[in-house]
Amino acid sequence: MNLDPEDVRLCVSAASGGEAPGGVTSSPMTPPIVQTSLFSFPSFQALLDGFASEHRSQVYTRGMNPTRQAVEGTLAALERGEACTCFTSGMAAVSAVMIGLLRQGDHVLFVNDTYGPTVQLARRLERFGIGHDVLLDLDVDAVRGAIRPSTRLVWMESPGTMLFRVLDVEAVAGIAHERGALVCLDNSWSTPLLQKPLEKGVDFVVHSATKYLAGHSDVVAGAVISTAERIQELFYRSSLLLGGMLSPFDSWLLSRGIRSLPVRLRQHEADALRVAEFLSAHPAVARIHHPAFSEDREGVEGQLGGYSGLFSFELRAGDFGSVRTVVDRLEHFRIGVSWGGVESLVLSPEREHGAERLASRGLPRGLVRLSVGLEGADLLIDDLAQALGSLP
Ligand SMILES: *Cc1c(COP(=O)(O)O)cnc(C)c1O
Repeated sequence: MNLDPEDVRLCVSAASGGEAPGGVTSSPMTPPIVQTSLFSFPSFQALLDGFASEHRSQVYTRGMNPTRQAVEGTLAALERGEACTCFTSGMAAVSAVMIGLLRQGDHVLFVNDTYGPTVQLARRLERFGIGHDVLLDLDVDAVRGAIRPSTRLVWMESPGTMLFRVLDVEAVAGIAHERGALVCLDNSWSTPLLQKPLEKGVDFVVHSATKYLAGHSDVVAGAVISTAERIQELFYRSSLLLGGMLSPFDSWLLSRGIRSLPVRLRQHEADALRVAEFLSAHPAVARIHHPAFSEDREGVEGQLGGYSGLFSFELRAGDFGSVRTVVDRLEHFRIGVSWGGVESLVLSPEREHGAERLASRGLPRGLVRLSVGLEGADLLIDDLAQALGSLP
């Protein structure tokens, strides 16, 4: 993992208490939680001035709040963007981008396997006359062919959900821009430490900060990062009005999580690679879906500065019963949704009568997804060995 020392410094000092007011020799190590719904003004005119620039004035916590602004500043800096808005969930961030940008008649092109609820939201937007397609063929010519004159937004997830296939972000962004579309990338898997999409021509980065950024399975949060102008535009068109701004306390939890992100990610990477290597040599396993196991290693390394701890593998016995047996047998992988926390988790898209559903999403049978936590690779490998050993 190649971490930029500037990123490590930004994380460790994330939303720190800052300088003390003049003359005082001490300052808090952590930021204050400004737990207020509103801010009062010294005069009516001052309030009116606040209204006139609500995107940067503290008027009401649904607009601006200093605890949230502090963590937004850290995330904007980490992504090398100018501004950020933090939301009550990753989906609130996704919604703010889509609803803020799209109009009747527009089309969204999703490139790569995309987080399910993101595509479901696009389906809900059909009734407002907004269309979409999901493109699973990652070839740049396929992307070129799938962009329509009405395509307003190209949405990338890279590495993609479930199979973790990696896109040539710069190439896709370039094609989208040639055709007049805006580009958004869901960077939850990589975090800004392993991939900086804005430097590759992407217009908006979204995060489920619930995952690695917060990192402790104790907060649901999201973020959008872009230029100051685009974030301001979203603020008035959607963020402020949809109302899903991250609360002061959850903002504080998020900033606390970010401080240990570099060291957590290093360990997630190392342990997940060891677990994946063990699985790749196991006779019950047909295939590993992890960017480091891609046939195009060079392409992947050109995109990512390292790997996080979420990947999947295919059981050779690709039936629901075998998946259920392995999942239930695991003792140190907890069964649950989400990922990116310190505890290891297991999940599968396999269902008893779900073959068609999997095929429609381009997913193979027998897929098991692991979020490798921080319990230690040896323990997790032993656990997988005993669970896989139970298969007939
Ligand atoms: C979890 C997730 C989201 C949604 O985030 P929430 O915080 O759960 O709303 C979006 N994208 C990806 C890739 C995710 O894994």
